Amino acid sequence: MNKFKIEATPERCTGCLICQLVCSEIYTKRFNPSMARIKVDILGVDCLISFTEECNECGVCVDHCLYGALKKIPREKRK
Ligand code: SF4
Ligand code: SF4
Repeated sequence: MNKFKIEATPERCTGCLICQLVCSEIYTKRFNPSMARIKVDILGVDCLISFTEECNECGVCVDHCLYGALKKIPREKRK
């Protein structure tokens, strides 16, 4: 599986939580945002985006963000 450095642009985040839903569905088979490896905290009009230590940098959450708040940058393959 490819690895990506995930860059977040919180200013673009709407707080829709699609990223958390897809991550939790893939890795826990449940649509439960609290079980996701990406965390979006909504603080009034601002969003804070972070990742847990379990994040394996697969980039799937990026592929499902409709608002351009996440970006994936390929990591060089380790030998
Ligand atoms: S990062 Fe993208 S998918 Fe996740 S809550 Fe923000 S806008 Fe939605
Ligand atoms: S990169 Fe993969 S493991 Fe990490 S938060 Fe996104 S979907 Fe989950």
